[in-house]
Amino acid sequence: MADEEKRDRKLDLEEADSGGDDREDEEKKEPFEKVCFLCHRTESRAGKMINLPGGISVCPSCMQNAFDQINNPEFRNMLNLSNFGTMKNFPDMGMFNLNQGPGAVKQEGPKKKEKKKKEPSALASFDIRDLPAPHKIKAALDEFVIGQDYAKKVISVAVYNHYKRVRTNTNSMDDIEIEKSNMLMIGPTGAGKTYLVKTLSKLLDVPLAIADATALTEAGYIGDDVESVLSKLLMAAGNDVEKAEKGIVFIDEIDKLAKKQNTNQRDVSGESVQQGLLKLLEGAEIEVPVGATSKNAMVPMTTMNTENILFICGGAFPGLEDLIKQRLTKSSAMGFGSDLKDRFDDDPDLLGKAVNEDLRKYGMIPEFIGRLPMLFALRKLDRDLLVRILKEPKNAILKQYQKLLALDEVKLSFDQGALEAIADKALERDTGARALRSVIEEFMLDIMYEIPKDENIGEVLITRDYIEHTGGPVITMRGVGAGLTVLEQRPDQA
Ligand code: ADP
Repeated sequence: MADEEKRDRKLDLEEADSGGDDREDEEKKEPFEKVCFLCHRTESRAGKMINLPGGISVCPSCMQNAFDQINNPEFRNMLNLSNFGTMKNFPDMGMFNLNQGPGAVKQEGPKKKEKKKKEPSALASFDIRDLPAPHKIKAALDEFVIGQDYAKKVISVAVYNHYKRVRTNTNSMDDIEIEKSNMLMIGPTGAGKTYLVKTLSKLLDVPLAIADATALTEAGYIGDDVESVLSKLLMAAGNDVEKAEKGIVFIDEIDKLAKKQNTNQRDVSGESVQQGLLKLLEGAEIEVPVGATSKNAMVPMTTMNTENILFICGGAFPGLEDLIKQRLTKSSAMGFGSDLKDRFDDDPDLLGKAVNEDLRKYGMIPEFIGRLPMLFALRKLDRDLLVRILKEPKNAILKQYQKLLALDEVKLSFDQGALEAIADKALERDTGARALRSVIEEFMLDIMYEIPKDENIGEVLITRDYIEHTGGPVITMRGVGAGLTVLEQRPDQA
């Protein structure tokens, strides 16, 4: 037996030896050194080549890189492999580790950037998985958004219901379908539409995309496709599809999509965009370009489900008041109603009386309005509200200036007359609260320039006279015996 074993082993060794000679012979026959098809390094530099069909040779480090790429989840996502039916079970290539085989080349790939963990929003006070009752959501909004109580109430209830629906996935439970709480917000410029949505998304710590309806066009025309709003949301969610699918999309200037009246041209930026938005609003699986707002061959795509995305549309709808007035006065104005015609002229809440019929007349298509079941209006901001906006919100503009001067140990204050004068100037510009910052910046420039010049200044009081260019601010100096001074007036001041 022992003899037989020895003989077998000897034969094996002989075979192995002769095989080795054959390989050496082959190599000797090769007149040129092999070159890596990818990095073009020679075999003597890059290590033993791996032969692929078609006479192609690849060095071990390029081969390893290729496998690493395929195993990289980001790359697989980019190629959409996870959604690709036949590739779903793409084998894990971790087993092919060429660095451990014969002829292995020690190489270190580029260091992967460590993903920064996103800090939760500083304002975030709610968890959408455990949302508090609507009155608490409204109370949180109250800290930032002044007035607009009805709008805040509607939004709080809608958001509460929306995320309850998302959390319990009840759209199919008990055959009772809970509809999406998409919203249509009507309100003049600067009334706080965008601000309300922004504050909401920060409180809930969900991603928010703000899109301008005027930039959207029908697919295939110059402009952004409707899918671009989802790309923006995906970007806001840091390319996390699951997070984006629970986000908020705000489409501003939605009134600009009204059907064009009496036109023979193709309406690529109006009615057809409304049509395009329908499927997004309702809930559908949409192919979305990743990292770009338009589709092309070079951009990877991913699929997003819009079922749980909250869509909020907003617009000023200029001229809508007339349609509302017409409808309200139509029935009563027959015969003796001429004095009733202007009954609604001074109604500050006329926009709040808008119904679907008015919007249809305005040029919105019925299917579109139907998918925005929560319809509400924001009021035009009056002088009192503007004054409150100046001083009350958590991040009020006046508080910001006060903080800046406090860093120089100067106390800044405004008397009531000054605040009213600022509000009046803002009202003249007719752009709501938007004008406040520019009005305030105009006269604060001098203050911010002059005050740090003199270290003895301890207090500055802004007065109506200063805002109206009829006087200066009241300055109090630091220390004992400090008196009041009026800052030098500009030459144009009285
Ligand atoms: P729009 O209705 O045109 O979208 P914005 O929301 O952009 O108006 O408002 C412009 C700015 O005015 C906001 O950034 C915010 O600072 C301020 N603002 C508007 N409305 C309010 C409000 N109700 N409460 C507090 N600030 C407001």
